[in-house]
Amino acid sequence: MGIKLKTLEEVEQMRIAGRVVHRILRQCREMCHPGVTTLEIDEEAGRMIEAEGARGLFKNYPTYKPGEGFPSNLCISVNDCVVHGIAGDLKVRDGDIVGIDCGVQLAGWCGDSAVTILVGDVERETRRLCEVTLRVLHLAIENIRPGRSWSQVARLMQGYAERAGMSVVRDFVGHGIGQEMHEAPKVPNFVVRDLLRNDIVLREGMVLAIEPMCNLGTKDVVTENDGWTVRTADGKPSAHYEHTVAVTADGCDVLTDGR
Ligand code: MG
Ligand code: MG
Repeated sequence: MGIKLKTLEEVEQMRIAGRVVHRILRQCREMCHPGVTTLEIDEEAGRMIEAEGARGLFKNYPTYKPGEGFPSNLCISVNDCVVHGIAGDLKVRDGDIVGIDCGVQLAGWCGDSAVTILVGDVERETRRLCEVTLRVLHLAIENIRPGRSWSQVARLMQGYAERAGMSVVRDFVGHGIGQEMHEAPKVPNFVVRDLLRNDIVLREGMVLAIEPMCNLGTKDVVTENDGWTVRTADGKPSAHYEHTVAVTADGCDVLTDGR
């Protein structure tokens, strides 16, 4: 259960997977206009994953029910959907926020990234939720460096979101990533006693998927009967951004920003 540090060569392999994820998310953004269905976006992502010679990490992701994996290529989570939204005939409308999460494995290495796309004329407070959540992700990226403990970073993330009047979802956390999508350690976007007891000291070669989820209202979430779709308990909007980043000698290197 130890943390697998990556060599510089392995980090470069992960960047190649990360570039594929970035290209897919860019294409999804292009398509994300009123009238398009989430299934159309998902099918385009499926075609791109195949054309890149990659493997989608979400499709058929196992659940506790045998034989029933996750049904989509992407997680597409609209408005009050926090994460793990399933693509379907839902049409994107003006004013929606559309969270799209994409993970692929290429030549054995994984990349994982998510964006929240603002469609047309989004309400001011919802726009601010997205800005704050994106800023929370970048605050983490700017503050990662070897020798620092993750709780210091998480405290900055939580503090920024809460001072801006947003809540931080507690039910999902970021994660180590490498040859598997989910590796040790867990990297929460908030500070709890459990993290302080088992704090992670950041080290060069750690690769982490950092993914803050913030809500406009309550931090509490509910899971629908499909076993996947997670919504805010009060129906208010939720935003999610994610990058895969490698800890370097003096900071961190984002592997899913298309560079
Ligand atoms: Mg993801
Ligand atoms: Mg992730």
